[in-house]
Amino acid sequence: MYSFLLGKTLPELAAVAIQAGLPPFAGKQLADWLYKKNITTIAEMSNLSKTAREALSKQYEAGGFAPAEVQCSQDGTKKYLFPTISGHFIETVMIPEAERTTLCVSSQAGCRMGCRFCMTARQGFQANLSAGEIIAQFCRVDECGQLTNAVYMGMGEPMDNIDEVLKSLEILTAPWGWAWSPRRITVSTIGVLPAMQRLLDESRCHVAVSLHNPFDAERQVLMPMQKAWPLADVIALLKKYDFTGQRRVSFEYILFAGVNDSPRHANELARLLQGLECRVNLIRFHAISGVPLQPASEMQLEKFKNHLNRKGLLTTVRASRGQDISAACGLLSTLKQSPALP
Ligand code: SF4
Repeated sequence: MYSFLLGKTLPELAAVAIQAGLPPFAGKQLADWLYKKNITTIAEMSNLSKTAREALSKQYEAGGFAPAEVQCSQDGTKKYLFPTISGHFIETVMIPEAERTTLCVSSQAGCRMGCRFCMTARQGFQANLSAGEIIAQFCRVDECGQLTNAVYMGMGEPMDNIDEVLKSLEILTAPWGWAWSPRRITVSTIGVLPAMQRLLDESRCHVAVSLHNPFDAERQVLMPMQKAWPLADVIALLKKYDFTGQRRVSFEYILFAGVNDSPRHANELARLLQGLECRVNLIRFHAISGVPLQPASEMQLEKFKNHLNRKGLLTTVRASRGQDISAACGLLSTLKQSPALP
């Protein structure tokens, strides 16, 4: 069984140091090697004695796996396939833009939420990722040193693995870790309520809620877990928090032809979000086989966007990236690599 140093917090690394016969301050040295210098083996920790490195190596490894496969899109987007400790695979997407380089990370292998429009849902839940496996996605992509932003929008529902997700956010934002501003990170959720409150209370990162339909009954057809956490409760919780400053909440809305793209939907969406400082991101749907949902036309996207903007909701259409390598929204899946699945 692998035991990663990667993914441990500073107090945990101090405890590891003591266990290996080192003074507690060596925990900070370990954090520097892992999170500032991005080493991949304990042998590289050259300011620790050979004896200490040997003691550490008996129980731990630095952590993270090299990608098993990398695919490059015509638009510069790259999709990495990483093995996990549990023997599954996850996908991570690097999206280059003019001013930023964003990493879209996975928080679980598979997902148990069952959203109908999502390829990840088809493989079901396989395993939660540890904080080390989440952080390893940042450390083991070729663009590690160029990354400017992160979105937790890859495989899995981050709130369904909230402890490890929060720990990874601490490592990314702590001064002893990656020291990123929380404003560089957006965590997505379909609105898993008890955990979403923890995200709001215990981190200062941006939040993105996958909404896709403002009517409970209709949303439940697209997203079966809606019945556990009604939209009104999700919005009521968000309204208790302040998004008028630097922290943002946004709503993701995939537009399906004839399903959620009418003026009735736009009006209800505007009503639901009234009084909340937020933005809406409209997303193009990428059709998947066996699912009778179709993408709304470009004209309909534009009409829906303009309708919401007229209602006072700041609305944009998100550019679709990496579609030719199935890296775009809703297309992440490792079905073909998993022999245990049909
Ligand atoms: S959209 Fe997100 S929450 Fe829904 S099944 Fe896919 S990965 Fe899970």
